[in-house]
Amino acid sequence: MGQRCHLESGGLIGRLALYYAFKESKLTRLCERIFSNTFTPYYPSPAYDRFLEGVVQSAAGSPRPMIMNLAVTARCPCSCCHCSFSDRHQQDGLDLSDFKSIISEAQELGVSLIGITGGEPLPRDDLEDIIALVGERSMLVLFTTGYGLTHERVRRRRGSPRHARA
Ligand code: SF4
Repeated sequence: MGQRCHLESGGLIGRLALYYAFKESKLTRLCERIFSNTFTPYYPSPAYDRFLEGVVQSAAGSPRPMIMNLAVTARCPCSCCHCSFSDRHQQDGLDLSDFKSIISEAQELGVSLIGITGGEPLPRDDLEDIIALVGERSMLVLFTTGYGLTHERVRRRRGSPRHARA
C-alpha cells in the first residue's frame, strides 16, 4: 500500500496514524480496494487520505470529527425488542436539502466516513439521492436489514459513483 509505505517512513505521527487505522483489523481486498473495518475508509480513496489526515491532525493536538452516523428516518418495518426508537412510525423530519447541508458541513469539518442508518433507511424513496450527496470525500456505510431491497434499487445504487456496505 503506497500510502502505508509513505507513512511508515513518515515519522512518529505517521506510524501512530497507521496504528490507529489498522490495529486489530484484517485487511480484505475487494474490487481493487482494501478494506480494514467499518470505521476506516477503504484504500485507495480520497476518503482514506482525508481520514489519515484527520488522524494525524488529532494526534498533533487538533482533534476533528472523522465519523458521522446519520439517521435518515425513524421508520422501520421490524420490531426488534432491543430497539431504541420509541416511535418507528413517525414521519421523516428532514428532506434532501437538509441532508445536503448536513453532509456538506460535516465534510468541511473533516468527516471522512458517513454511516446512513435509521430506523431502516430503505423505506426512504430518496435514499439513493442522499447517498449520492456523500460523494468521494467520505466513505459511505449503509446500515440496513435489507428489508424490501429490490433488484431495481440495487441497479440504481450501482449506477451511482459510490459503493456501499450493508
Ligand atoms: S431493525 Fe433497527 S430500527 Fe428496526 S426495529 Fe430493529 S433495531 Fe429498531
